[in-house]
Parts: sequence; C-alpha cells; structure tokens
Amino acid sequence: MKAIIADYVLDVNGLKKDVAVLIEGDKIFNVISSKNIGEFDVDEVYGGKGYLLIPGLVNAHTHVAMNKFRGFGDDMPLDKWLNDVIWPMEKEWTEEEIYKWALIGIAEAIANGSTTINDHYFFAWQIAKAAKKLGVRAFIGQTMMNLVDMPIAEPELGFKFFEKWEDKDNLITATLAPHATDTVSKDLLIETKELAEETGALIHMHVSQSKEEVLRVKEREGLSPVEYLKTTGVLKTNFIGVHGVYLSKEEVKLYAKSNATLVHCPVSLAKLEGYVGPILDIWKLGGKIALGNDCAVSNNSMDMIQEMKFAAILNKVKNNNPVMPTAKDVFYWATLGGAKALNLKAGLIESGYLADLVLINTKKLHFLPKENMLSHLVYSAKGSDVEKVFVGGELIYDNGRFLKTDELRKTLDI
Ligand SMILES: [Zn+2]
Repeated sequence: MKAIIADYVLDVNGLKKDVAVLIEGDKIFNVISSKNIGEFDVDEVYGGKGYLLIPGLVNAHTHVAMNKFRGFGDDMPLDKWLNDVIWPMEKEWTEEEIYKWALIGIAEAIANGSTTINDHYFFAWQIAKAAKKLGVRAFIGQTMMNLVDMPIAEPELGFKFFEKWEDKDNLITATLAPHATDTVSKDLLIETKELAEETGALIHMHVSQSKEEVLRVKEREGLSPVEYLKTTGVLKTNFIGVHGVYLSKEEVKLYAKSNATLVHCPVSLAKLEGYVGPILDIWKLGGKIALGNDCAVSNNSMDMIQEMKFAAILNKVKNNNPVMPTAKDVFYWATLGGAKALNLKAGLIESGYLADLVLINTKKLHFLPKENMLSHLVYSAKGSDVEKVFVGGELIYDNGRFLKTDELRKTLDI
C-alpha cells in the first residue's frame, strides 16, 4: 500500500490537517491521521511536512496538440482567428506532429496539476497514444465537422475512432466530438446523439462560442444554439458543452435545467472574445459547471491552477459582484464538477475514490500565513507549486520529471 502524508488535505468538502491518504491499487483506501500510519502495511511513502494534497484537477476542455501554435494569432477576434489563422495551419498537420505536440501539451497540463484531460481534436488516436505514454487520465474525441472544408475532420473518422479505441487500463476513454453547433449539420448531430444513447458515450461539443456561431445557427435552424440543441434531444445525453458565451436568458434556463455540463474556459474566451458568458447565472440556477484550459494558442498556458483564479476574478468582474463565485465554487468546478461531467468517481479525497491526486509544496512565501489553504490554492498558488502528480495511484510526475516516459526529453532535446 502507498501513503501520501500532508499537513493539509483539501477537497470541496473541507480541510483536514496532518493526514495520511492510503492508496491501494488505483483507489483511495482510507484517509487517516498521519500518526496512525504505523498500523497499516505501507511500503511507499510520499509527501511529509509542508505539503498540501488536493484532488487532481480535471481539465474538462483541451486541444493539447495546439501547443504548437502558441503565440500565433494573439489579439484577434475568435471567428477571424479560427478562419484566418488556425484552420489554415491545421490543414498542414501530420500524424507525427500531432503526436509530438500532444505529448508537449499533455505534459504541460500534468506539470500544472491536471490529472484528467477531456480533449477534442484531429488525429485523436495519436493524442490517445501520447496520453497513454504519459499516464494521464484522458477522454478523447476526434473532431467531426461536415459544414466546413476540413478533410481531417471527416465525421467517418470520428465514428471510427470511437468504435475502434480500446484501452485495457481504462485510463483513456473515447468520446464523440462534433465540433460546434454551426459547423455540424443537424443530421450528423442526430446520428451522434443516437450512437451516444446506444453506447452511453459522452458527447463533447463547442456551444455558442462566438456571435457569428449564434447568427449562423439562427439563420440555418431558426433557433439559438441551445434551443436548437434541445430540439435534437442531445442535451438529454451525457453532453458536455463548451463555452456558452452568448446565451440568452432563456438558453441559460434551458441549459441549467438540462442534464448537460457547461465547461467554462475563462482565460481563452476572455482573450478571444473579450467577454465572459453567463456562467454564474447557470450555476446559480443549479446548472453543472466544469473548468478547462481550452488551448495554448488562446490561453496561452495549460495551467488549471491559474484557470481557477481567472474563473473567480473574471466572473466577479462580469457580474460586478465580489461575492460570487467563491474560491470554493471554482475549486468545485475544477475538481468534482469536472469529474461528475465525465462520470468519474474522482474529485474528492475519500475512500473508494480514484487516487488521482496532486501534491503541492507550500514551503513558499506566497503560502503564508498558513491559515486558509483554499484561498491560497485559488488566489495565490501557481502551477509551478505542483510537485507530484498521481493518476490511479501511480506517480506520473515528480518535480519536473515525467516518470512513465523519457520521450519528452528526446522531443524537447533537453
Ligand atoms: Zn475548444
């Protein structure tokens, strides 16, 4: 059995002090006082004085391979950025390049505390291979578009990846990934929904991410994006929508009442649209929210600790309200909210939950005074405070080293 000892163990249910978390197989076996560790048959011990242990952060929307384009197309509106900068570069992708940049993007996310990614991109099988190499938990969908000229997003590829992908360790799950409400036809969306109903698959899709998307859907379907999604029945499936920037009051109510989760990517959309969506309104109505980095071209980091701070601050500014969302709200979105969206028993540090855990070094000036660790985690911590990352009980990242592979070292030539 493994044990992680920490001065502070924090999840959305609260803070515990001087704790040892016992791990058996891929799950948390027990959470005990560190004084009692001698009573258990422990052969590997991690952590110790000065550490904070949190559930692994669930990065609920990523395009990890897009790390390749970091620094391109800054300071442009989303629609222009996508059409003039990103899609032309994406047409040049090769499978080798996707694999290499997926490794880099996933590694950056892990190093900053993500234990799970939910990715949406081309050549999904290469991204799955990279995820497997690094040992991260991953949900991966092959992007499908049929209203845009993008041969690498042919719907057939998406269905084929979903049907063929098998993973013996259960770490990688294939999802269905129609691109967005304006780039996918109604027929394709309904075909995707029917397959999801049959198989229980997750559907991962961009929703209302630009004003142009809303206009295009209104023109084509005579409805706003969420109303349109409702008519297709897709919101009743395991649906993960992303962004929801331009939602009307009616759409907010519809989304909040549905079974779907909305993934909020505050940095990416503030940068690309100069705008924050009505996330807090959905949350206040009891809707489901998760958090994601989106991609390193629009973010420009894969750092979920930073994302929590931006989620709190930008939504306070959006609503002219310093009270909400609280540090606890955004910590929930980044942990349990994401885990629930993906149907994972993770996001809490309790026996029976997956041992997806992040050990943070608090022996730093910005963790003083050591009174309120939740506040420090959300408002003061940095991704670089992450020291160790465990996925399914296995240590995959330790102080700058990715333990499952040395391939990254070769790729980066370091
Ligand atoms: Zn996206």
